[in-house]
Amino acid sequence: MNDDYLEVRGVCVDFDGFRAIDDVDLTLLQGRLHFLIGPNGAGKTTLVDAVTGLVPASGLIRYRNQDLLRTKPHRIVRSGIGRTFQTATVFEGLSVLQNLDIAGGIHRRAWRMGLARRGTPSYVEEALETIGLTDLRERPAGVLAHGQKQWLEIGMLLVQDARVMLLDEPVAGMSAEEREQTGDLLRRIGSERTIVVIEHDMEFVRSYADVVTVMHAGKVLAEGTVAEIQADPRVQEVYLGR
Ligand code: ADP
Repeated sequence: MNDDYLEVRGVCVDFDGFRAIDDVDLTLLQGRLHFLIGPNGAGKTTLVDAVTGLVPASGLIRYRNQDLLRTKPHRIVRSGIGRTFQTATVFEGLSVLQNLDIAGGIHRRAWRMGLARRGTPSYVEEALETIGLTDLRERPAGVLAHGQKQWLEIGMLLVQDARVMLLDEPVAGMSAEEREQTGDLLRRIGSERTIVVIEHDMEFVRSYADVVTVMHAGKVLAEGTVAEIQADPRVQEVYLGR
């Protein structure tokens, strides 16, 4: 196994004595689409918050020999860990291109020093192409369709060179066609990244998941392929309510 994986070992998160994450172990390998599912309150968001340094946690979260629990949030981003939230957080008044420029610029020294202001940097062009928004580059992000805003957010992670992407319900509110385009996008960018998707849309999970982790009451209840998860009686009982 190369070092491009995210390792979570014995992680716990407590909120005022309430254990929201309870001794979670996970190994998230590059090149697979990982889906994190489970009922509301299972701890999915809190786990992602722990990885990105937004809540204090105990245990070990390691990426490329760095312990993320002992790393400040902005340094976690610099280490190549990126995330999206349920509601897209793009700059609505700025163009698609400006959004990508800003996201990339935070991380690129040349941009910060004003050296890369002539023309569009190639990594921005590539991101535009990947997310399918090349023709809409001059549009204000605020007028984009819901799905396009989500893709722009993913594009913002691409220009930051995020090697690990944690996506919170990226297809919520999307049309069937947009969901399919998003799944294809994740497949394309996921081949050389570690992608973790929190998702409630089981049809989307069935179509695109390589590995599914089911969480319940702060713990990992089961992990495996979609078929393995669906056949697991504990999952049926707790998650599907059968
Ligand atoms: P999920 O994303 O699976 O729906 P969450 O991670 O949001 O679950 O929540 C897990 C549990 O932790 C829930 O019981 C929730 O109420 C609790 N929780 C989440 N954030 C906080 C917080 N900041 N303070 C107290 N309890 C919290």
